Amino acid sequence: MHTIDMDLVEMTLDVMKYAIDRISNVTPELGSPKKEEELLRIVGETITPTGIGGENAFKLFRDVLVKATVPIDHPRHLAFVPAAPTRAAIMFDLVTSASSIHGAYWMEGAGGIFCENQAMKWLVSLTGLPKNAFGVFTSGGTAANLSALVAAREDWREKNPGNDRTRALLLTSNGAHSSIKSMAKVMDADVRLIETEDEYLSGEDLKNEIDSLPEEDHKRLFAVVATGGTTNAGIIDGLKTIAEVCENEKIWLHVDCAYGGGALAAQSVRHLFEGIEKADSITIDPHKWLFSPYDCGAVIYKNLELAEKAHSQKGAYLEIFKDEGAQGFNPADYQIQLTRRLRGLPLWFSLAMHGTNKYRDAIERGIQLAKIAEKMISEDDELELVRPASLSVVLFKRKGWTAEDYKEWTYRNHRDGFALVTPSTYKNESVIRFCFINPDTTEEDIRKILETLH
Ligand SMILES: *Cc1c(COP(=O)(O)O)cnc(C)c1O
Repeated sequence: MHTIDMDLVEMTLDVMKYAIDRISNVTPELGSPKKEEELLRIVGETITPTGIGGENAFKLFRDVLVKATVPIDHPRHLAFVPAAPTRAAIMFDLVTSASSIHGAYWMEGAGGIFCENQAMKWLVSLTGLPKNAFGVFTSGGTAANLSALVAAREDWREKNPGNDRTRALLLTSNGAHSSIKSMAKVMDADVRLIETEDEYLSGEDLKNEIDSLPEEDHKRLFAVVATGGTTNAGIIDGLKTIAEVCENEKIWLHVDCAYGGGALAAQSVRHLFEGIEKADSITIDPHKWLFSPYDCGAVIYKNLELAEKAHSQKGAYLEIFKDEGAQGFNPADYQIQLTRRLRGLPLWFSLAMHGTNKYRDAIERGIQLAKIAEKMISEDDELELVRPASLSVVLFKRKGWTAEDYKEWTYRNHRDGFALVTPSTYKNESVIRFCFINPDTTEEDIRKILETLH
């Protein structure tokens, strides 16, 4: 399999040409999903005893299968949380694959982990956490949240030895991301959602909830999860007052900034995150607002040792390299995964190439696009702003439309290959939601999308 034959060369050229064309194309075709049976009917079975050939398999991917996907970096993809990886980061994702670096241990990954840690140092500096805080790249926000919460529970059990069989309880709000509830299930922990009317959790809300807990639940409380930019509305909880409550109660504070974390680099909104420097752990997704390709999340700890206590696997076979160069930061010690891709490398290369100012400006552009959209919406008689833009999210309504009308509109724009914008709900009402990430989205794009609402 390792001899280079002409087929391989040809296939490589095809693949490289595709990759270059794709990253140069700023408006890739907005594909749409097809039923599995339909795809199978078109391409046939692709895994066979003798193989269908690289050129053939690649052709099926390029001509059929990729067209049944929706490119998330399209400038008029404003649904969910889009992504807009830089070309530099994508190119370096290829280099990461080609280099076959095992990213669990310094012993094998030193040079690559050095790069990841350079990028991490910048991320940590944005948070304002104290000097010894540090973090590690994960597969995404879900894995980062799980890693942080497992560390929190370990710490709680360590400090409360009677609790090693007690089911732990965490508090968060209805604005929190679904992954919090889902990861609590993985941990077999309980979640209490603090219902807020507008998705904003304050220290006072938190204090009231804690005070109303029955004694036995209060004893089970091991963590509070606040959100630094709710996924739905871009709202940042009252981190300063929440941190004070957690400090008084001696409860681990995790701040989930999977979506909003990039905005820590933006001076125009940085004050909204005040208090984040008191967190015990923080999640940031570079594959959301830091222009990394999928997948790349990050978990940062105020006290890295507590993460190590929870996650280190310490295999005996790891003690073999005795020289000093082999001793260093082991990413496997601080999150749930062992063997791992160096998924912070693409971010590192792109940051190193462009500099952090470019990142700051590109993030500010997302915030500015949301303000521009807000203004256009408020000047349009048929539209109604639901709340002012928060970070890069804008929620608004088309007067007189029902949930069904919104769905139909989303479907039509997508079917025409024009845009992907999806409805959401806020305060139990159907709304349209814009989420800007891509700095290449233009005012004209926004105007044209708004025109389709008339
Ligand atoms: C997207 C998101 C997550 C989940 O992150 P993944 O990378 O999709 O696993 C968690 N929390 C928040 C606030 C998010 O926006």
